[in-house]
Amino acid sequence: MTDIIHLLPDSIANQIAAGEVIQRPASVVKELVENSLDAGARQIRIVLKDAGRTLIQVIDDGKGMSPADAQMAFERHATSKIKSVDDLFALHTRGFRGEALASIAAIAQVELKTRRPEDEMGTWLKIAATKVESQEPIACGVGTTISVKNIFFNVPARRKFLKSNETERRNIFTEIERIALVNPDIEFIVIENDLQTLHLPPANLRQRIVQMQGKNINQQLIEINEDTTLAKIHGYISTPQYARKGRANQFFFVNNRYIRHPFFHKAVMTAYEPLISASESPNYFIYFEVEPDTIDVNIHPTKTEVKFENERALWQILMVTVKESLGKHNAIPSIDFDTADAPEIPIFDPSKSPAMPKVNINPNYNPFQSSYGSGGRVAKPLLDWEELYRGFEKEGRESPVSPDSETPLFPENSLQEPDSQLVSPKHYQYKQKYILTSVKSGLMIIDQHRSHLRILFERFLSLIRGRKGVSQRMLFPERIELTPSEASSLSEIKEEMEALGFELSDLGNNSFAIQGIPSELHHVDAVALVRSMIEENMDGGGNAMEQLQERLALTMANFTAIPAGKPLSEEEMSQMVNQLFACQSPNSTPDGKAIITVISEEEIESKLK
Ligand code: ADP
Ligand code: MG
Repeated sequence: MTDIIHLLPDSIANQIAAGEVIQRPASVVKELVENSLDAGARQIRIVLKDAGRTLIQVIDDGKGMSPADAQMAFERHATSKIKSVDDLFALHTRGFRGEALASIAAIAQVELKTRRPEDEMGTWLKIAATKVESQEPIACGVGTTISVKNIFFNVPARRKFLKSNETERRNIFTEIERIALVNPDIEFIVIENDLQTLHLPPANLRQRIVQMQGKNINQQLIEINEDTTLAKIHGYISTPQYARKGRANQFFFVNNRYIRHPFFHKAVMTAYEPLISASESPNYFIYFEVEPDTIDVNIHPTKTEVKFENERALWQILMVTVKESLGKHNAIPSIDFDTADAPEIPIFDPSKSPAMPKVNINPNYNPFQSSYGSGGRVAKPLLDWEELYRGFEKEGRESPVSPDSETPLFPENSLQEPDSQLVSPKHYQYKQKYILTSVKSGLMIIDQHRSHLRILFERFLSLIRGRKGVSQRMLFPERIELTPSEASSLSEIKEEMEALGFELSDLGNNSFAIQGIPSELHHVDAVALVRSMIEENMDGGGNAMEQLQERLALTMANFTAIPAGKPLSEEEMSQMVNQLFACQSPNSTPDGKAIITVISEEEIESKLK
């Protein structure tokens, strides 16, 4: 019998891995420019032809590479930036996984010219599809020039997925903008099809923002600056008068990396709330500096999500900082301004033995494997909810219902009959959005939508993990047509979806029939739900089982959680609260938003003095 298992040749393995890091010309630009910055460049020139399709060239005046390093740089896991996993915790450079150049070389024709100041001659290296074609000495200036030609020339499937030049160009400029905003002292030049289209001379931050956004923005910038034990925050926000309708320029950076952070965005918007209308949004450029070990350095290179250890505290700090800066700028009528008893900024208290900072890094993580552990993505409770819950019990609450029990899921026609034997604390619904109830320590406010999201998330997660999903056959199976990449995304998640109770059959030609859905779901648009699960999976990157399961559970929960604006009966509220406190992490949603807050009795008393 002949053996059938064989190792993939390096060239194919690199090509597969490249898909993780290099999705489009913009990813090449980002990786190359970040390498130049790490090499101490003061000036970086970016040359593009056809929106990067035929040429991306990055020319820097950094420290260059030795001939041996030049060749090494294209090996997988070749990096000069870390030597052990511990280095990850103190990471200040941008790259560190040593995969960018290897990935780029796997999918394009690459040329490198580089010289260190101490060398007389530079090195000229040509590589295509991972193979070194030539290496020879060359006379050249100090620094590094990397040219990347014909991206995806050997991966037609990926080349086909490139968007229009317009779109690819926009993506490139999005990357350049983010990088330029954290490196105002570095000069950037962009040359497109032989024309110089952008020149950013060295500047300070305010000037750099003006260079990028146009002179008009200057007069609307308000500086913010706050230094706390948890974080330093600085940057600029715009005066409320300049808030615009539609998309504004909104940037968060942490330790000089661009991040997306919907939760912190909400903090900024909360500070602006009394000053602008709901349809307007302000510009902001906000920079956090935190200890590297208090964030979950999202080690997926193409991701911009970062998880903070002290997310809720930072939310408060940010909100108050923005509010105060707006206030100082005389922008806020004092009557609206509640910083008099603004939420106290929770300062790190050294006397309360702090929990060891937990960073979710898996030392076995290998970016060239398709899966890695996701670690604890569920935010840990920041409120002592057990204490809160005890408050309930005193008031006659029964033991909580496990979200995993047979209790029908809330609410959609599946509400339990109220148990009249039970003496429940009163619940009051405010603005059809919040549940208010009295607890020992004060007045507790629960966000109804988020609370339900948390309950459903844990419920769905336990269904997937326990493989306990029960399917309900659809009367009229729905047909869903997918693109080839969507279809392959679906095949990645199909098994988990079946564990939840979906029944999907392959009709060939990238179309599927949805024949059953989890029995918990009523009145959902099954096609839309399946689509959003596929899309989430495509956006999600790495497919560790745990992460995949969480993502699926979250998508389903998002899809089915009751919205704000839904009136709830006393029974529904009581059941909701009960189920919430039976959750593992009742304090925040899976994506880190607060669910519960308590206004203390003292606060209420002091307000009514
Ligand atoms: P990483 O940046 O994660 O270390 P890369 O594949 O991007 O991995 O680069 C590999 C190595 O090549 C870097 O660690 C660095 O030593 C070297 N290198 C890459 N680009 C440059 C550059 N522009 N100037 C000097 N050295 C570079
Ligand atoms: Mg790099």
